[in-house]
Amino acid sequence: GNEDLDTVTVPLPSTSASRSEYRWGDTTSYAAKKKLQFWFLLPNGNWELGKILSTSGTESIISLPNDEVLKVKTENLVPANPDILDGVDDLMQLSYLNEPSVLYNLQHRYKQDMIYTKAGPVLVAINPFKKVPLYGNEYIEAYKRKSIESPHVYAITDTAIREMIRDEVNQSIIISGESGAGKTETAKIAMQYLAALGGGSGIEYEILKTNPILEAFGNAKTLRNDNSSRFGKLIEIHFSETGKISGAKIQTFLLEKSRVVQCTEGERSYHIFYQLCAGAPPILREMLNLKSASEYKYLSQSSCYSIMGVNDAEQFRVVVEALDVVHISKDDQQSVFAMLAAVLWLGNISFTVIDNENHVEPLEDEGLFNVAKLIECDVGDLKQALSIRKMRVGNDNIVQKLKLSQAIDTRDALAKSIYACLFEWLVEQINKSLAVGKRRTGRSISILDIYGFESFDRNSFEQFCINYANERLQQHFNRHLFKLEQEEYIKDGIDWAKVEFEDNQDCLTLFEKKPLGLLSLLDEESTFPNGTDLTFANKLKQHLNSNSCFRGEREKAFTVSHYAGEVTYDTTGFLEKNRDLLHLDSIQLLSSCSCHLPQIFASNMLAQSEKPVVGPLYKSGGADSQKLSVATKFKGQLFQLMQRLESTTPHFIRCVKPNNLQSPRLYEQGLVLQQLRCCGVLEVVRISRSGFPTRMSHQKFAKRYGFLLSDNVASQDPLSVSVAILHQFGILPEMYQVGYTKLFFRPGQIGVLEDTRNRT
Ligand code: ATP
Ligand code: MG
Repeated sequence: GNEDLDTVTVPLPSTSASRSEYRWGDTTSYAAKKKLQFWFLLPNGNWELGKILSTSGTESIISLPNDEVLKVKTENLVPANPDILDGVDDLMQLSYLNEPSVLYNLQHRYKQDMIYTKAGPVLVAINPFKKVPLYGNEYIEAYKRKSIESPHVYAITDTAIREMIRDEVNQSIIISGESGAGKTETAKIAMQYLAALGGGSGIEYEILKTNPILEAFGNAKTLRNDNSSRFGKLIEIHFSETGKISGAKIQTFLLEKSRVVQCTEGERSYHIFYQLCAGAPPILREMLNLKSASEYKYLSQSSCYSIMGVNDAEQFRVVVEALDVVHISKDDQQSVFAMLAAVLWLGNISFTVIDNENHVEPLEDEGLFNVAKLIECDVGDLKQALSIRKMRVGNDNIVQKLKLSQAIDTRDALAKSIYACLFEWLVEQINKSLAVGKRRTGRSISILDIYGFESFDRNSFEQFCINYANERLQQHFNRHLFKLEQEEYIKDGIDWAKVEFEDNQDCLTLFEKKPLGLLSLLDEESTFPNGTDLTFANKLKQHLNSNSCFRGEREKAFTVSHYAGEVTYDTTGFLEKNRDLLHLDSIQLLSSCSCHLPQIFASNMLAQSEKPVVGPLYKSGGADSQKLSVATKFKGQLFQLMQRLESTTPHFIRCVKPNNLQSPRLYEQGLVLQQLRCCGVLEVVRISRSGFPTRMSHQKFAKRYGFLLSDNVASQDPLSVSVAILHQFGILPEMYQVGYTKLFFRPGQIGVLEDTRNRT
């Protein structure tokens, strides 16, 4: 063998910052003798490759490829892999698994458009930001026939299908990564493969067509991604016994509704608004009094109307066609467009002061009349809903007139609510169309495309929820890959050195503990009439300061130590966003409309309410209190999601963004490294390589491969048969372990047996 490959034993890197410093001492002098290559850290944070010429313990002299010679601190040196390991397709094959080696390997592949690399059981996908020739029918066929072996979304999807059929267990493909890393594209690529392999009934075509619809209504241009998903999505694709797709079900999470009324300079609201304005045919334009996007305040505030390379008018036709395919009737489509136009016109409603106490009333202009017409309500009722608030105090009904900022909030809340309900209603209609018939087989593959961990200069309620979700997903990932792995070895009596892993239970407890956790305290403060963002922040500091994952900050801020790093949250707007109340007057207004809205709205409110709602829904004062807080609803969804995922065999894809400019070719080491750390890729490689990832019960193994034996073994017990098979095929002792109930194999071992079996 190659002597260089396995001679130097070095401590392995870890993902935790505290353990990431390692010293090389003896290794360096050995390496100097052997003239091995080393990585050293430049002051700019990048790694450079060099050879050690000599070393004096703490300092070493190294030479660079350009013949430059440098004196560097030995502790800044990390061993590099021999050239023959350049660009291996599984990081597990690397002899040295340190951070620079992993980074270099990924970069080496990325340069040649090999954007996929395995990290043990995890697929790493680096966004190419350009078309790469890796997709389409030819590739699908090749992966199906297994004539290509390189890592790919197709390959992992193929594994999921096979394991679903072989083990009769539901599967999940869990895709994560930062905004712009490629999650949604990856999910679509996986769906393509499923459709190609499980197609036939025609339903697969409908399933694929949900993508342009959900992207139109749930994606927007942000500063990070021209097509950023502003919601999380789980699509469960069902299969019949014969392996054909029989239906699907979509669940969405936490749509960012604030974007409808407000977005940052250079970003856009949801694509569908621009598509409608640009692409609606003349009759529809006239019916909805549509104008161009720039005439609507909600769309004009961020001074961004178009996306490079995207034709909104053309996209509108694509969306309409997709709506047809998923059986949304033309009537319903028209209502959807009317609701969208109503939202846009709402933003154009302006107010005028009516008394000397600065109370306001909507102007009777185009905006007001168009909204009333579109949602089919009385102009007077609309005007009233936007200028007064009826409240019940004790037994008295009180009418409060609104000031300008209150009126604007009321108007915007109405717009956000209409849009969010419309979105959920649409998903519901799609689900009806894709519903699996009565003959359920219970086998499915779920694809999860959900926002990754977020840490910005300013972090608000949205990041709070998103990061909480990621904390849960990370635990699932940890549990699955590490804990279950260890437990299984131990349970089966396998000799396996314990591997430490980062557990994030403390952080989850910080969020979920009752009554003194972040979520409980948030809900409690949200129900106090006098609660403010400041009193909320103070309460957190008062109760949680002893928690090691929590730190109070100045004024209204607090910091959480997440698995992926510390994030400081600004509580401004937390209570309001969490309550997400629509005033009774608005609710009454919406339920009085003659349009589709009451139905859309009612089913939505019902779905959200905690207690069963009896009698007329919004007549009494109880409606507000029946609604769950946003955080609690989200937590419920998340628990449901985790429960569903627990019962599946998971497959993980980690998407990585090589630069922040959405540009092809540019590979920023620091940025990539930070993402690899955040998603635990390095830790996974280490653990998988040292373990026995493939396992099979004695019975199953004997049954599956017993017939390959030359001797007749029919009468023997499964364990003896298994051992006979291992011997006959010359599987080396260090490559497997025999447990009480199962056999455990190093990566790649079962392949030989499977090949023989398939050829026989
Ligand atoms: P967000 O969290 O904001 O929704 P995301 O992770 O879903 O981000 P995508 O929208 O999937 O990111 O990808 C962003 C862009 O990157 C795509 O619009 C596309 O231009 C490019 N991209 C991603 N994956 C690929 C790929 N496999 N091939 C070519 N381009 C890609
Ligand atoms: Mg996305």
